[in-house]
Amino acid sequence: MGQHLHPTYMLRYIRAGALRLLKSSGIFDLAKNSRWRSQRLLILCYHGIALEEEHKWIPALYMHPDLFEQRLQALRTGNYAVLPLGEAIQRLYRNDLPPKSVAITFDDGAYDFYAQAYPRLKDFGFPATVYQTTFYCDYRQPLFHLISSYMLWKRRGLVVKAAGIAGISGPLDLRTAAGRAKTLNDLVEFVKNQKLSEEQKNELAASLASVLDLDYSDLVRKRILQLMRPDEISHLAAEGIDFQLHTHRHRTPMDEGLFLREIRDNRKRLMEMTAGAVPSHFCYPSGVYHLEFLPWLQKEGVVSATTCEPGLASLGDSPLLLPRLIDVSGRSPLEFESWLTGVGFFTSRPRRRYKLPSRRTRRTEAAYSP
Ligand SMILES: [Zn+2]
Repeated sequence: MGQHLHPTYMLRYIRAGALRLLKSSGIFDLAKNSRWRSQRLLILCYHGIALEEEHKWIPALYMHPDLFEQRLQALRTGNYAVLPLGEAIQRLYRNDLPPKSVAITFDDGAYDFYAQAYPRLKDFGFPATVYQTTFYCDYRQPLFHLISSYMLWKRRGLVVKAAGIAGISGPLDLRTAAGRAKTLNDLVEFVKNQKLSEEQKNELAASLASVLDLDYSDLVRKRILQLMRPDEISHLAAEGIDFQLHTHRHRTPMDEGLFLREIRDNRKRLMEMTAGAVPSHFCYPSGVYHLEFLPWLQKEGVVSATTCEPGLASLGDSPLLLPRLIDVSGRSPLEFESWLTGVGFFTSRPRRRYKLPSRRTRRTEAAYSP
């Protein structure tokens, strides 16, 4: 341990040491096979599996495909019962879960699910649910906010002449996260103020790429930061992937009528793409929920809703407030295993029951709202 170790790192060392001890002393196995664990369902949450280097850009939302494969391997090696979400939730409330049950979910439904996650899930024979937001499925272009942020990050360390792009007069200072955030903010504000169409946003992203000396057509061709298209969703649905609700425009208005419209538009689009399968499971966009939403969801026939509160779902949880573990690149294999066994629930930092996702996550996810 270094002399100037930051308390956060020190805590991490201590926690890693504690986990190693718990594992070597057999506590992991005890927990894994306990009655407590057998009555609980661990719902895992993923966002994206990198097509390029998205996992270096936002490690909390994107994961390297090799790491994702390691996670799947851990599930197989540990003999976990990976269940389809609908079945898992039914059995949870019937108090009839198999031992060591897990469900795998993906948020948003980006193309990388199609290209990176699905083939690996298929290899392992694991079922998965995609909470699909649908507005941008019909646009054959990257999500403006995300691709702009990604391109600025790719040119981190540089100061670039902007040449009047988006009304920005000075050079773009991409040397710091703050400088990149400011540039991104200027771009997003410009789009908002000028009320740019989707087509114009795409043109602006292309101009930004050229200012940054990046090959935009290559990024578009690779389908980086695009949603799955309707034909891809249809294909995966036919292959057995479960598509569920995440709102059409990735937002949850506080107005009942607007909220219901989000659910209905989302459901309608999904049913068109999935041969009429009626989605009835929901995930709160960006993990943001309010108790007002619960009766609205019930009215719409939604039978379960997942949050981003870390935990294992139990019989005592409201089906419309099910905890879910967001798996991130920075989580060590040991920590991941601790969550599978159930030990992670006790060793992770206590959290407030109601916690908003980080500003960055919320801002990133805002990309899915037109
Ligand atoms: Zn989302």
